[in-house]
Amino acid sequence: MTKGNINVSVENIFPLIKKFLYSDHEIFLRELISNATDATLKLKHLTSIGEAQVEYGNPQIEVKIDKENKTLHIIDQGIGMTADEVEKYINQVAFSGAEEFLEKYKDSAKDSGIIGHFGLGFYSAFMVADKVEILTKSYKDEPAVLWICDGSPQFTLEETDAKQERGTEIILHIAEDSTEFLDEQRILGLLTKYNKFMPVPIKFGSTTQTLPLPEGAPDDAKPETVEVDRIVNNPNPAWTKPPAELNREDYAKFYHELYPMQFEEPLFNIHLNVDYPFNLTGILFFPKLSNNLNIEKDKIQLYQNQVFVTDEVNGIVPDFLMLLRGVIDSPDIPLNVSRSYLQADGAVKKISSYITKKVADKMVSLINENREDYEQKWNDIKIVIEYGMISEEKFFEKSDKFALYPNTEGTYYLWNELEEKIKTAQTDKDGNLVILYATNADAQHSYIETAKERGYEVLLLDSPIVPHLIQKLESAKEKISFARVDADHINNLIKKEDTAISKLKDEEKETLKKSIEETVNDKKFTVQMEDLDSSEALFLITQPEFMRRMKDMQATGGG
Ligand code: ADP
Ligand code: MG
Repeated sequence: MTKGNINVSVENIFPLIKKFLYSDHEIFLRELISNATDATLKLKHLTSIGEAQVEYGNPQIEVKIDKENKTLHIIDQGIGMTADEVEKYINQVAFSGAEEFLEKYKDSAKDSGIIGHFGLGFYSAFMVADKVEILTKSYKDEPAVLWICDGSPQFTLEETDAKQERGTEIILHIAEDSTEFLDEQRILGLLTKYNKFMPVPIKFGSTTQTLPLPEGAPDDAKPETVEVDRIVNNPNPAWTKPPAELNREDYAKFYHELYPMQFEEPLFNIHLNVDYPFNLTGILFFPKLSNNLNIEKDKIQLYQNQVFVTDEVNGIVPDFLMLLRGVIDSPDIPLNVSRSYLQADGAVKKISSYITKKVADKMVSLINENREDYEQKWNDIKIVIEYGMISEEKFFEKSDKFALYPNTEGTYYLWNELEEKIKTAQTDKDGNLVILYATNADAQHSYIETAKERGYEVLLLDSPIVPHLIQKLESAKEKISFARVDADHINNLIKKEDTAISKLKDEEKETLKKSIEETVNDKKFTVQMEDLDSSEALFLITQPEFMRRMKDMQATGGG
């Protein structure tokens, strides 16, 4: 047996860890399962490169409650630790074996999904336990060891034959003030919250499963039920797969997996996948917002290597995307730190601007792929898009390609289509475009009708942030202004511009021309139709030039 002092410069670091390192005691379980996962993934990596000559098999992590002894057990089948390794990795607080592993296997292990970072996770166990045991056996051919520590800087470490199988068992003697962590439902809740998509199967208790009846079974046969392991996680969530392998149903299924209480289908999904200049994967969903605004509960979730970090994403995800749902996973998102640190973190800032760009690109491809479908969904997504246009310059710059401006008739224009449409009829004397809009089709009905009769397009802009959007557009675009259809000066404008003639279709113009010719009925005159612009026609009844001259000569008596 070895006895010794844990190697820390601050004599009593445990009270500090307990009080200040984590705001939430419950994350101890996430940390210990992360370590168990790392241990398993390390073994996977070492067997794959031939450095560990053992069978990898189908390792699991098991979580077990022993109510009688008031202990909680986290058991893995990973690489385990030798006595020396326990000395090195456990007894040195703030020395991260995960970091060391990634350093050592730099090139081959960079995508291995190793979670650890700071070398502090393990000690979070002392937030809920007054004594912790580590029973571990390395994959190397060395005896198992038992480490025991009661939360003081003293520990004991001894060889033991209490463990034959490779791997590590962490035994937490739950403290009097933390007995909630001996409750099955509480632990199940935590596993579902933090570990639902972790990459190694996690077993917690068992559940019953009904077997299908064998073929040809009699009608009155009762299906058999069997007891099976309860695996609490899906080790291969959709966002870890390449987009090409997923179809619409897969995305919808994942959406419901993420938000089990959500029965609506998402409108669109955006699969994020980048490995330069930082790593990030994820799937964002546009929910149907109009009749179902449960934004408070079903929020975007942030993961680090499939470990849930937080769903408080403001400051990390751009504000306007807070209305979306989904997951973002990046190994560059620090796991063990406070929110203010997260927001100041450089990697996190880059993530935010990347997501903005990616969402803009996706909107462009969605509208180009199926304009009709996009238009149908516009009402549900416009608030997100408009909010993004107001708040993110980069998003605004691209928005001409995907922001729609519907008129009161349900025709949807892109910005340049709108300009094209109104550029002749709705231009003031300085050549500025005057864009008329209504905010409420019913309340402003008569104004809309009047404006339409005069040949104007009236947009229907009815989301609550429209005043800001208009301000943004007016300041960003040249020579345009917006005018609300029922505003006083509109009446003036409409009167002033009374010259606007209602639009004629080509065949209407032709008919009109014919009837004028018939009326004039004089070959000396020709009827000419002057197309002043695409929307107005002016008929000029003219005499040929030489007839006019003749007349002039007769009048002046000249020859
Ligand atoms: P980190 O995970 O950030 O490296 P931790 O304090 O969580 O730091 O763990 C310290 C180290 O202890 C790990 O890096 C690892 O080397 C070792 N360790 C902890 N738990 C296990 C385990 N279940 N199996 C093998 N090694 C472990
Ligand atoms: Mg850790």
